[in-house]
This record gives sequence, structure tokens and C-alpha cells, in this order.
Amino acid sequence: ATSFRGKRVAVFGLGGSGLATVRSLVAGGAEVLAFDDSEPSVAKAAAQGLPTGDLRDADFSRFDSLVLAPGVPLTHPAPHWTVGRAHAAGVEIIGDVEIFCRERRAVAPDAAFVAITGTNGKSTTTALIAHVLRQAGRDVQMGGNIGVAILDLEPPSAARVHVVECSSYQIDLAPTLDPTVGVMLNLSEDHLERHGAMENYAAIKRRLVAGSRTAVVGRDDALSAAIATSLELDGVKVVTISENDPVDLSAARALRGAHNAQNANAALAVARALGVSDATAHAALETFPGLAHRMEEIAAPGRVTFINDSKATNADSAAKALASFPKVFWILGGKPKTGGIDALAPFFSRVERAYLIGEAAEAFAATLAAHDVPHAVLGTIDRAVAAAASDAGKAEAAEPVVLFSPACASFDQFRNFEQRGEAFRTAVLALGGATATNR
Ligand code: ADP
Repeated sequence: ATSFRGKRVAVFGLGGSGLATVRSLVAGGAEVLAFDDSEPSVAKAAAQGLPTGDLRDADFSRFDSLVLAPGVPLTHPAPHWTVGRAHAAGVEIIGDVEIFCRERRAVAPDAAFVAITGTNGKSTTTALIAHVLRQAGRDVQMGGNIGVAILDLEPPSAARVHVVECSSYQIDLAPTLDPTVGVMLNLSEDHLERHGAMENYAAIKRRLVAGSRTAVVGRDDALSAAIATSLELDGVKVVTISENDPVDLSAARALRGAHNAQNANAALAVARALGVSDATAHAALETFPGLAHRMEEIAAPGRVTFINDSKATNADSAAKALASFPKVFWILGGKPKTGGIDALAPFFSRVERAYLIGEAAEAFAATLAAHDVPHAVLGTIDRAVAAAASDAGKAEAAEPVVLFSPACASFDQFRNFEQRGEAFRTAVLALGGATATNR
């Protein structure tokens, strides 16, 4: 990134996106020092020949810019005083998306740039938009909070379109975020640890669309709808979208459920804003392969359908999954979030039987018992899959569904939701002929 040539920049947080940031700044001629509170991360950066500093005697107030990786909480205990001191000294505190935005304005201000945020559906919608634009023959670079770090993508150019998923952390640290098309899908309570009040969280998300040339905003929740109205009042070009806007997804296997109609309508609005024909965009919805761990159908033998929705780490996401099927054998649990599964009570009538795993099992069992939902505490995913598959195999329904939509974080038993989803997949495939013989 040449916009930082000759500037003194500290990068704190050396995960994938932090390392990409350091490489990009070094290549662009900035004077960079990389920091992390984990010694192995610093060693890894040093092994790549990147300039590293020692956090113990770091003074961020002596830099022009401080770049924080999205994973670094602003309330981080150890370097808190240094970050605070840098802020007090007028050092700008930014993230990798901000660096990208400056670079784009410097090298290719007319290059198309789509940025996507929301509480749920960001990754699906980002991947879907990238797919639609690729099917329309565009040169697409997709990344950010999904897959490749934004500064590891090919640089902006007039013939290229960047499709970038942004977490609220990344928006927070991108004061001049200015996408060609910004998408804000929805807002519900999640990630409040860092942002405190909901208004603050909503204000951060709003900035992504407020800075866009065209703003695509969901109107299915009250907060998002209010943001759409206020943007219109501010003179922003707004296209609102809803899961109720008519879109035929009957042939789009990877876009089951009403929530995916919201995602599909967002993708169609983006395609239109970028000059893709409706026919091309609609056809592309049907060839979208979907993302792993999000309502992903596992190709298993037998008549039981197994759905891996390991990414459903909160009740809202699990609600969308439950709403997608009339009856399910539901595997859930993990590290519970505030509120547990109380909010899911309206969907309990769809649950044939629930299979509980992880730390949340006992508390969830109590909630389910209070609503007379048949359930069993199994503890581990292997046991839950075996029990659910056996029950589903005996079910009368033409296409019984075993749904793994945990409504919990994964950290009690797994590294992350991906590893948890792989454990589900492995358990399903290990059933082998077991479900097939239940035909
Ligand atoms: P994110 O990247 O925002 O976490 P994903 O696309 O990875 O979102 O989907 C996460 C979970 O949210 C999935 O389990 C999916 O079932 C659910 N989901 C997907 N799209 C939406 C939506 N538009 N509204 C609500 N929930 C959704």
C-alpha cells in the first residue's frame, strides 16, 4: 500500500490479516514494526523477514498510524495503555480495510468495490455476490472477513471488482470506508461484548452503508429499516431488500430458507447496481454451490437428509435454520450465549426430538422440558449424530432431516465452528450404510 510510503506504522495483531497488512505496508515503502502479545506469532512474522517490535517497551504514540488486527479487542489489557496513549497523542488507529480504501482511492478510484455487513448472512451473501458477478464475467477478488485477508487480494484496478465482507470490528477501524455498493443485511444482538450498547453497534454498521454510492439495506428488522430511512433523509441512494421480495429459489439448492431469500435479494440488488442483467443474476443463484457449515447438505447415503449448520453460533441463526424445515431431528448445544434458546420457543413445534451436546446441554434440556419438547442429553457430537440418525431413519416422513444448528459457540469442545462442522460431517459419513439400511 503506497499511501503509507515513508510513514511510521505499528501493526498490532499478527494473525493472517495482520501479516498481510505488514507485508503490504513494507512493499509500499512504509516504516513498519509488527507487534503481538504472543511470542510464537512474533517469531512467525520474524521468520518471514518482517520487522517486529517488542510489545513490552512499545510506545505506539511515536508512530503516525497504529493498525489493529480485527481480533484485537480495544479493551485488551496488556497494551491498553499504549493504545490509549497513542490515541491521546493523536495517532490514527485504523484497520486493514481502511488501508485498502486509501489504496483504492490512490490507484483506481473508479474500481468497483462491494462491501457487505450485517449480523447474520454476511459470508453467504459475500460468496453469493462474488459468484453472481463471476457468472456475469467480471474479474472478482473476494475476501476480507471471509477467506483471503483484504490486503492479500490482487490490488484494485478499473477492470476488477472487490467483494469484501466486513465485520463491525473492521468497519469501526475504517473511518473513510467508501464502497461503490454497500450492503447491510440485518441487525440483531450479537457481539455486544465489544461494542456495548446496541445503538453503538448499529451506528458502526450504519457507517458502511452511509459511505456507499449505492446502499443496499435490509428492511426486515426495525433497526435496519430505521437506518434505511435515515440514509434516505441524508440523501444516500438506498435500495431496500427483504426476504419477502419475490425471488424464485426453488432450483437454488444452496439457498434454502427465508433468510436466504434476503441474501439472494441483496445479491440481485448489487448485481443490478453494477450493471449485471437480471436474467444473468437470477440464473447464477441456481448454480451457487453454497458455503460449508452454513445450511450445508452433507452427501450421505440413505433417505435421511443431514444439514450441517455449525456456523449457527447464536439463537437467531438457529431460528432461521429451524424455520427452513417443517420437522427436524435437531442437534444443538456447545458453549451457550446469553439468553440460551429461550427465543427459539416459537420453533419448538418443528422439533421431532432434540439431541444435546456440550456445556449448554443441561440448561437447554431444562428449557426444552419446560416446553414439552422430546430431548436427550448425548454430550458429544458422535453420540448425538448416531442417536439422531437412528431416530430419523425410523421416521415416517418422506425426507427426514437431521439438522445440526447448535445455537452456541464451539469453544467448549472445538477450536472453531469449522472444526465442529467437520466433526459433524465425519460422524455422518462414518454412519456409512447404517442409515441406508434403515430405508
Ligand atoms: P455471517 O458471516 O454473518 O456469520 P453466514 O453467512 O456465515 O453469516 O451465516 C451464518 C448463519 O446465519 C448460518 O447458520 C445461516 O443459517 C444464518 N443466516 C444466513 N443468512 C441469514 C440472514 N440473512 N438472516 C439471518 N440468518 C442468516
